[in-house]
Amino acid sequence: MSTTAAVPTVADVVAELERHYPPTWAEEWDRVGLVLGEPCAAVHRVLCVVDVVPETVAEALAADVDMIIAHHPLLLRGVSSVAPTTYKGRIIHQLIKADIALYVAHTNADVAVPGVSDALATRLGLVDLRPLKPATPGTPAAGEGRGAGRIGRLPQPMSLAELARHAATVLPATAVGVRAAGDPNRTVYTLAVCGGAGDSFLADATAAGVDAYLTADLRHHPAGEHLATNGPALLDATHWATERPWLDDLATMLRASGVETLVSDLDTDPWTVHAAAPAADQAGHGPTPPQTKPDGGPTPTADEPPSGRQGARP
Ligand SMILES: [Zn+2]
Repeated sequence: MSTTAAVPTVADVVAELERHYPPTWAEEWDRVGLVLGEPCAAVHRVLCVVDVVPETVAEALAADVDMIIAHHPLLLRGVSSVAPTTYKGRIIHQLIKADIALYVAHTNADVAVPGVSDALATRLGLVDLRPLKPATPGTPAAGEGRGAGRIGRLPQPMSLAELARHAATVLPATAVGVRAAGDPNRTVYTLAVCGGAGDSFLADATAAGVDAYLTADLRHHPAGEHLATNGPALLDATHWATERPWLDDLATMLRASGVETLVSDLDTDPWTVHAAAPAADQAGHGPTPPQTKPDGGPTPTADEPPSGRQGARP
């Protein structure tokens, strides 16, 4: 990007993004790149989000940004209408009317180094990172440590139960938090992670010989079968919480190139309530009150303010 004081254009921001996340690194089924916006339009301010949903579009409008950079494609499958009477058509109309460009970096940002799972691994404190599933040789993404997920070492070994609490503390707060599967006392030295829905890499985590694997959206049968066949212990965080850390890296990169960048802390996971059954020693004393997000937003922690209702963070 130019080092002059000139205001960057959509094309300039796209060029910077594609220097770090070339679209050719994306999976074949994926749809990445510029979705909306005139390449010549000026970009004074950008908002980084995991999901383009009505709530994050409202944030973009309130913050008067010129461009949204999203992780998940708004339009992954073919559409025959973007009428404003449809869910996505309404979003598209709002963005075009407000002159807000939209750009998607998805699986090309997953495999990049640093990529989505590097940010997750770093948040958890992992060191000595390598890919969980290296990019297939011969594909555009192959080489230089690129690939899906990351494997790393915990600076201090901890039990699975301690690791689950650690993950719930350092990852962005959500109503659901983190759950784990396996022996709570199992000692974890090495951990595989994958931002987003990573159950297609369960076998890779087993083959890598790690002690535990943290990802999102794990399902009953694959998780159960994996554990029953001596796979690593599992930790299941929410989809948004495992991908949100990457937005900070994305923002740092854009700011370094002279683009004013905001990061959305709006938890776009659909889950808003977590209720635990009464603990055994409390049985008979009535149900545990459900933990709800304040006003539907993320539960605050000391280092993670619930900015969902407070607007995007600079
Ligand atoms: Zn995802």
